[in-house]
Amino acid sequence: MAVIKANAYGHGLLRVAEVLEEAEGFALLDVRDAIALREAGFRQTILLLEGFFTADELPLLAQYELSSVIHSTWQLAMLDAYPRRGTLSVWLKINTGMNRLGFLPEQVPAVMEKLKSHPAIREVTLMTHFSHADEPEGVAEQLELFKGLTAAYRAPRSLANSAALLRYPATHAEWVRPGIMLYGASPFADASAQQLGLQPVMTLGSEIIAVRELQAGDSVGYAGLFRADRAMRIGIVACGYADGYPRHAPTGTPVLVNGRRTRTLGRVSMDMLCVDLGEMPDADVGSRVILWGAGLPVEEVAGAAGTISYELMCALTARVPVSY
Ligand SMILES: *Cc1c(COP(=O)(O)O)cnc(C)c1O
Repeated sequence: MAVIKANAYGHGLLRVAEVLEEAEGFALLDVRDAIALREAGFRQTILLLEGFFTADELPLLAQYELSSVIHSTWQLAMLDAYPRRGTLSVWLKINTGMNRLGFLPEQVPAVMEKLKSHPAIREVTLMTHFSHADEPEGVAEQLELFKGLTAAYRAPRSLANSAALLRYPATHAEWVRPGIMLYGASPFADASAQQLGLQPVMTLGSEIIAVRELQAGDSVGYAGLFRADRAMRIGIVACGYADGYPRHAPTGTPVLVNGRRTRTLGRVSMDMLCVDLGEMPDADVGSRVILWGAGLPVEEVAGAAGTISYELMCALTARVPVSY
């Protein structure tokens, strides 16, 4: 099951679904996106990862054959009030330690009884989500708890995000739920995408639109956060936080100009950022700039900016022209 929430991690929902059309399922958040997939002709399982939010979504789930996570008793109450029969496929989410969504272990037997005998429910899949699959702590505790809680039931199971899929084969079960790895980024801090054999899908690129010669003591950009200690050449790049480049990326964040690595300078503004051209006399107006992607792993840029690749990819804004 390909996780394509958040506009396929910023890559474009329908385009990514087309590329991944052989996936047996898609997982996302928004019922309108799920309906758009159905209307575009996708026939596989489509799972709503937070389930339904209001009772009036229930007929849509039935009409479009969408599967829904069920994580809370308020959703059970809405199901009880729902009159249709034999139409819904639900994924019972069990909280095994993440403490975000899901029923508590001690609630599982009663909820499972209820769902299995519920007239509106056709099929139940059992799922959980790991809090530490990408960390040294791993999945052992949650995995054991989940196995114990679900051993008595004949139902498909789903546990693994990208990190668990890559590192813990014991978590694979009937459905895996990779997200970030599909887009070519590593879920781990201690293993690069390249080491995992993953290639970046998204490259964020722009161009240098102006070049300046700074003198020692000149500062750059808002608040003069960067000040030159000698004469230097800088480039102004047409990309800023309104495109999704992180404003908190400090001076020194890596960037490629003409395929060579240099660094950002000073504060990122809404539509522009500045780069050091000190070591690249050939760089000029029109030089190609890569902010992340091919040749510059998004994880590295994220690390420099104090965030993760997921956030950078999802943050890409609608004004950025995309070519596939
Ligand atoms: C987002 C999400 C995933 C995918 O996680 P990655 O770390 O991107 O692989 C899997 N399962 C659930 C429930 C999610 O919310």
